[in-house]
Amino acid sequence: MKKVILEKGREKSLQRHHPWIFSGAIKQVEGKPGRGETVDIVSIGNDWLARGSYSPDSQITVRAWTFDKDENIDRDFFRRKIVKALEFRQRLSGIGTDFTAYRIIAAESDGLPGLIVDRYGDFLVVQFLASGVELHKPLIIELLAELTACKGIYERSDVAVRLKEGLTETAGLLYGEEPPAKIEIREHAQKFYVDVRQGHKTGFYLDQRDNRDYLYKHAVGKTVLNCFSYTGGFGVAAALGGAAMVTNVDSSAPMLAQGSENMQLNGIDEKRYENIEADVFCLLRKFRAEGRKFDVIVLDPPKFADAKNHMDKACRGYKDIAILGFQLLNPGGQLYTFSCSGLMVPELFLKITADGALDAGMDAHIIKRFSQAPDHAVSLHFPESQYLKGLLLNI
Ligand code: SAH
Repeated sequence: MKKVILEKGREKSLQRHHPWIFSGAIKQVEGKPGRGETVDIVSIGNDWLARGSYSPDSQITVRAWTFDKDENIDRDFFRRKIVKALEFRQRLSGIGTDFTAYRIIAAESDGLPGLIVDRYGDFLVVQFLASGVELHKPLIIELLAELTACKGIYERSDVAVRLKEGLTETAGLLYGEEPPAKIEIREHAQKFYVDVRQGHKTGFYLDQRDNRDYLYKHAVGKTVLNCFSYTGGFGVAAALGGAAMVTNVDSSAPMLAQGSENMQLNGIDEKRYENIEADVFCLLRKFRAEGRKFDVIVLDPPKFADAKNHMDKACRGYKDIAILGFQLLNPGGQLYTFSCSGLMVPELFLKITADGALDAGMDAHIIKRFSQAPDHAVSLHFPESQYLKGLLLNI
């Protein structure tokens, strides 16, 4: 077996079953492994530590497949991992009954680094984000088809992180039938059309499912400002939950149009919602100048920080919208504020939000802390997989 030898003392994270080995931790690579090829990982004293996939161009040069010396990386290995991930999802309540779209494989947290698989009804949408899973793609697709009895598997690996692995962006059908232009999914009481070809990520922000449902249960009679509305997720939840009026704001006209279709799909009267195509940062300032206020405001922006050197700017962005959000609330109003940047840790997000309240001249209480839905699994050994966080605040 080809081999990666670690620098002295760099075995500690592997011993805690964290799957990543950074380039700086590697002393020597033996046997010239190719991209994605399986290698043994050993300490400087030649103690066997793990077996992983080698990615020569990536800062994350090896991702561990297994910490069991007797486990080979073969067909049975991938079958076991997929079966285990599916069994975990089956134990979560609501899967396939209360909602018909969910994550069935969450990469590192399911022991398959770099592999994302989401189920949308009868179809799977996959992302291969690391060299190891890319090398085994045909086998993984064959097993997914067999084990999930899906009608088709569509790839959405058209994402820039692939470039860090020395891979190119790609998308298209990998197995079975082409998915329809719009797949209808159900999330609790809400229905949505998902465009798995053009939509963000694999098509929909499935990670926010439970948080949208929380708003659904607490929206009766409220005026709701849904910022960064995408295809209407929180807006549909609020309207269906009995909100008096929903204002969706997004910079993308096509996304707002899909949001309207989703409102119609749920039988929401046109008079109960409006769409505003605008930059949220500008629009909130305009509303402030006009003195316009809301009972509930949702702030679910895109990832502001992708890399550590973006963090300052990201912090300013989160604080800016938090200040504006607080200022636009009616007395007793509620702010739902989220961050999906993994680098923004919950304590920091809380502090920035508190700074925002202070600058807005508001006192606020935390009613609830939000996270990603549990099908977006978080392994205890891989805390990086916990990326979505949110706060519900009452002024
Ligand atoms: N809350 C949504 C997901 C939001 S995704 C859901 O539950 O489904 C983030 C959205 O923000 C995208 O639709 C993107 O078009 C929009 N966006 C990004 N920057 C923006 C800006 N400055 N102003 C308004 N919308 C923006």
